[in-house]
Amino acid sequence: MSAAGHCWQCNQSTSGQLFCPACNSLQPPPNDYYALLGLERKLNLNTQALQQRFYELSRRLHPDRFMQRPVEERQYSLDASSILNDAYRTLKDPVKRAQYVLKQAGFDVGEQRSKDVPPELLEEVFELNMALEEMRGGDNSARPQLEQAESNFTRMMTDVDRQLESLFEKYDRSPSRDPLSELRGVLNRRKYIQNLLDEVHAELTPDT
Ligand SMILES: [Zn+2]
Repeated sequence: MSAAGHCWQCNQSTSGQLFCPACNSLQPPPNDYYALLGLERKLNLNTQALQQRFYELSRRLHPDRFMQRPVEERQYSLDASSILNDAYRTLKDPVKRAQYVLKQAGFDVGEQRSKDVPPELLEEVFELNMALEEMRGGDNSARPQLEQAESNFTRMMTDVDRQLESLFEKYDRSPSRDPLSELRGVLNRRKYIQNLLDEVHAELTPDT
């Protein structure tokens, strides 16, 4: 392992670049998705620019291009390509991106336990479970109620996504723990509503 900030090959300063400005050797890749992609740590990303950056780096880091290079670089290109694929898969999706930023900031983003019903949803969830039970027991009269629930939860999702958008902006304006902690709450709520929607949907259209 070379000294941080210096090329493992020629020992010149790399100024944090992936390829040494002096000898063009590939450097050990950073594990951080934003750092590898050379992007500012923003929650709002231009997905088209992200995709272009991904394609460009995929080409430059492709292991086939390093066949004739020293063993270190061959390994770095494998490592970097693998991190790059994970980075793209994560950052192109706003929810996964937010979870990543939260995790990097030290927040616990473990799966929301299904019994932690958000208090404002308690009544709705109770009624939904009754309707689901009736449907499962073969009582089709609960169908309109489920359809109503489906449209309610869909509307809630739209609200939640709007909240996410505004928290993304808030964080990008002034990156701090406050918007992140709010963000975690909204993501948990989103996950919870998504599970309810999946459940209702599976009951209404069992074959899909
Ligand atoms: Zn170098």
